[in-house]
Amino acid sequence: MIAKVEPLTPARALRGPFDYLLKGALEGVGVGTMLVVPFGSRRLLGVVVEMAERSDLSPERLAEPLAALEADVPPELVRLGLWVAQEYVSTPARGLSLVLPPGTGTGAGRRTAARRSLAASITEAGCEALKGGVRLGERQQAALEALREQPRRVTTLARDTGCDHGGLRRLEKRGLVCLERALENSRRPVLRGVGATGAVTGLTEAQQGALDEVVRRLDAPAGEDRRLLLRGVTGSGKTEVYLRAAAAALHRGRSAIVLVPEIALTPQTASRFVERFGDSVAVLHSRLSARERYDEWTRLRSGGARVCVGPRSAVFAPLTELGLIVVDEEHDGSYKQERDPRYDARHVAEMRAQACGAVLLAGSATPRPESVLRYDRVELRERVDSRALPSVELVDMAGVSGPLHQRTRDALDEVRRRGEKAIVLLNRRGWSNYLSCSECGRVWDCPNCDVTLVLHRAAGRVSCHHCGHAEPVPRACPDCGSVSVSRRGMGTEQLGAELERLVDPLPVFRLDADTAPGGGIARVLERFDAAAAGVLVGTQMVAKGHDFPDVTLGVVVDADATLRFPDFRAEERTFTLVAQLSGRSGRGPRGGKVVVQALDPEARALRHAARHDSEGFVHGELERRAALGYPPHGNLIRVVCSSQEEGPETAAADAVRRLIDAPGVAVLGPAPLFRLVGRSRAQLVVKAADRCAGIAAVRSAVESVSSSAEHRGATYAVDVDPQ
Ligand code: ADP
Ligand code: ZN
Ligand code: ZN
Repeated sequence: MIAKVEPLTPARALRGPFDYLLKGALEGVGVGTMLVVPFGSRRLLGVVVEMAERSDLSPERLAEPLAALEADVPPELVRLGLWVAQEYVSTPARGLSLVLPPGTGTGAGRRTAARRSLAASITEAGCEALKGGVRLGERQQAALEALREQPRRVTTLARDTGCDHGGLRRLEKRGLVCLERALENSRRPVLRGVGATGAVTGLTEAQQGALDEVVRRLDAPAGEDRRLLLRGVTGSGKTEVYLRAAAAALHRGRSAIVLVPEIALTPQTASRFVERFGDSVAVLHSRLSARERYDEWTRLRSGGARVCVGPRSAVFAPLTELGLIVVDEEHDGSYKQERDPRYDARHVAEMRAQACGAVLLAGSATPRPESVLRYDRVELRERVDSRALPSVELVDMAGVSGPLHQRTRDALDEVRRRGEKAIVLLNRRGWSNYLSCSECGRVWDCPNCDVTLVLHRAAGRVSCHHCGHAEPVPRACPDCGSVSVSRRGMGTEQLGAELERLVDPLPVFRLDADTAPGGGIARVLERFDAAAAGVLVGTQMVAKGHDFPDVTLGVVVDADATLRFPDFRAEERTFTLVAQLSGRSGRGPRGGKVVVQALDPEARALRHAARHDSEGFVHGELERRAALGYPPHGNLIRVVCSSQEEGPETAAADAVRRLIDAPGVAVLGPAPLFRLVGRSRAQLVVKAADRCAGIAAVRSAVESVSSSAEHRGATYAVDVDPQ
């Protein structure tokens, strides 16, 4: 037999798959087996992507694999990985790395997780050492013996055996133990239960109707459309429908994947699945250690876990007999991966579900126009218990001095007097947006990127939100010497300080990328949840699907800021943000309201959001996009060429543009983009009525230009369905 093997190397130039001859012991190999193969003078890890009877190469030129790894990938996922590579103009190796057990792959896009404590485990050499013949200190001996039973945290080990960190480091140097950063609590990470919810006894009529539609699709004959959009207003009990749908799949001997935006931000959904399904759930959140991640992958692969809950990468969970893929909060931008392969988990979910006859259930209060147009739909029009949606008031900020409108101040004051809770959204972090010299007008820019530096007062720095460049807060203008440097635009840090004055003595909690790296998010949300009263202020993070029943006021500051971006999704983004933030208010018996501050309160997106009118908004949006040929009425592909100096990027983009030549495919640009992380960039936007034709045209043009010597100075990023 011949195994066709795709080598897992980041090199774009290597064109696999390559043929290897299988003999003897390796004969159990099939599609999805990982092999160590000789490649020239090197050895590479590769994945079998196809089996064949014969090869085009003569037998004496065929090499044999050196070894097969124990873990393998289901063939269905091999096909999915290769499809992602094609669809998103990436390489087979990068596509495949998405479906491999964690820790293999090309090294491209290795995850770094924020982790807390060190854990030790014993190596094979360590086990050997315990058999004797190796010099070990008494404490080291004790530590190795303890580790032979199970991996342990370094701190517990020191306490129990007296072998401290230094001792373990020495053992590590000798290859006897392995130290890695691990979550503080145990192997099966327990999710905290914010606002833990009681068991739901009966479904509402609307929930039951939605569930029936899911089940009908589960049981439908082959070839039927199994895609379903669940549009349910915020607080309408969508999660309960997902839970029952997953149970229905399990009941039929099938498995389920539940995609959620970011587990750190919305731990409630994941913890409800854990409560309901116990050990048959694997939760893949971003703070698992490499080891835990691998363990969860193995549990899924072996069938030990049949439900997988996780962010976008969970769409590649190694489950067989898949019956259901849920995409919760399907409007959320985090489903798109922003590095190569730039896949959209929602699109991948649709493909995977179709390939294995599974139901695709996408849910949201504010679904995307794409889904509304293309999927069958069921609706949950009311909140559970028929609680009213909050009233939303749009207030005009024209001529208002200061960050908050009088109506907002009054509403906050009411929260203060009654000892209630409020959530305030401002989608800009930092203290002020930018610094400018009052004398000469100089603006402080990032030296690497053409963007302004943002003041972070507590940190005493101005910093770039793109590349991380930071410098001390300037005392004077280097151009004119003036000491009058003014702070323009307001960020969450400053708004937080303002709110502290306004609602004193209620506590103010800030949630944004500055306050909340790693575990910080969970802590802030926990503290807000536990507080009797208070204000949560932050960026779009505060608008995610939190279920805090006692929030009575939502505020959006500068709601139309997002409308001022030149992007065809600007309206959708604005609508979604305001509607989702509104969804956080009034979930409890006290009811709630929302105040939305805007410079243009008449904006279409805001008017629809104020009426909780997703239907009307999407209807108008679809009309507008049809007229312009934007998704879902057409496809967009973005090509960004970049280079160290100015010039090559535009020349390369021009060359790509000239090569894209297909009927129904139009190219806009090249347009210069702002410099980013020290690189000059130029962008092409490709509009294609036919998706496959557009992708194929872009791929062949980019491959040709990137392999030409003339454009060696440029690099290329292709983004299909850019966000
Ligand atoms: P959504 O995801 O639609 O915003 P959730 O799933 O968060 O809504 O549900 C809102 C609240 O309603 C949760 O606290 C949930 O436990 C509760 N709930 C859901 N379904 C029911 C039901 N049938 N009966 C009573 N309470 C329910
Ligand atoms: Zn100046
Ligand atoms: Zn920068």
